[in-house]
Amino acid sequence: MSARGVPEVVVDYDMCEANGVCEAIAPEVFELDDDEQLHIKAQPDSDTEQRVRQAVASCPKVALSLRE
Ligand code: SF4
Repeated sequence: MSARGVPEVVVDYDMCEANGVCEAIAPEVFELDDDEQLHIKAQPDSDTEQRVRQAVASCPKVALSLRE
């Protein structure tokens, strides 16, 4: 868990297929670049935590996890 009490999100880049599901749910946190590489723009905060949790649960490749 981060110092702010919000879990950090971790990406398994070997699993990610860059389909953009997470970016659609929480674009403040997830971003696909022009090469379809996923980036974490900012770790979750209290405002984005719930949508990040939704993104983690929604990733069809189970490439996202939370470090509580
Ligand atoms: S939802 Fe999962 S597979 Fe899709 S871009 Fe995000 S991490 Fe990658």
